[in-house]
Amino acid sequence: MKIIMLGAPGAGKGTQAKRIAEKYSIPHISTGDIFRANIKEGTDLGKKAKEYMDKGALVPDELVCDLVVDRISQADAKNGYVLDGFPRTIPQAEALDAALTKIGEKVDFAIDVDVPDDNIINRMSGRRACVACGGTYHVVFNPTKVEGVCDACGGQLILRDDDQPETVKNRLKVYHEQTQPLIDYYTKKNILKSVDGTQDMSKVFDSIVAILEV
Ligand code: ADP
Ligand code: AMP
Repeated sequence: MKIIMLGAPGAGKGTQAKRIAEKYSIPHISTGDIFRANIKEGTDLGKKAKEYMDKGALVPDELVCDLVVDRISQADAKNGYVLDGFPRTIPQAEALDAALTKIGEKVDFAIDVDVPDDNIINRMSGRRACVACGGTYHVVFNPTKVEGVCDACGGQLILRDDDQPETVKNRLKVYHEQTQPLIDYYTKKNILKSVDGTQDMSKVFDSIVAILEV
């Protein structure tokens, strides 16, 4: 099962992708997590990506596409995967299609987690990320047992640099200009499915499972 998660930044793609990955035993591949891990390790890729991420801009396609094509060709992705945060532009979607066509495969589902911009601003200002494991919480909608401490690993929770309100506004603008056209792209391929991302997290998940198991 090859699944793409679409939706604005903060729509809940990562939250749902994690659950899908657990339920179907497939890897959750988040390009944002890959970049953040590279930034933490101080790699060249991380240094380059950070320049764009801090501004709320997209990392250039040429730094993203090969990385994803390489990742999905690894052994653990043999039975499928859930892509979170990729593709984010039409050229990225075309690069993914080209790589899959070469090996006689295709994406099965593109799931759009639909949330209006007004809700997004609240979601992002309350999102907290673990510096150690990348786990994501929300101060109101998904709080940790102990404030500021990751339930999963005990790491420290922070507000991501790119979740500052000014950066979020730019990320939303970039989303509408560059990523939203993918909704049309996958509609034309007959694999687009939309879910109402304003429901609570388990309801959103139930809607996704209902789509995947028809
Ligand atoms: P994305 O991966 O799309 O950027 P996340 O999954 O990180 O988004 O979710 C953004 C924030 O909103 C997080 O703090 C998360 O805990 C919270 N969140 C996710 N889904 C919901 C939901 N259905 N209702 C309320 N808050 C949510
Ligand atoms: P995310 O964790 O998915 O919200 O991604 C955080 C940031 O990483 C984005 O705002 C972009 O700067 C960058 N990024 C992640 N995935 C991509 C991608 N597929 N294409 C370009 N930039 C990306």
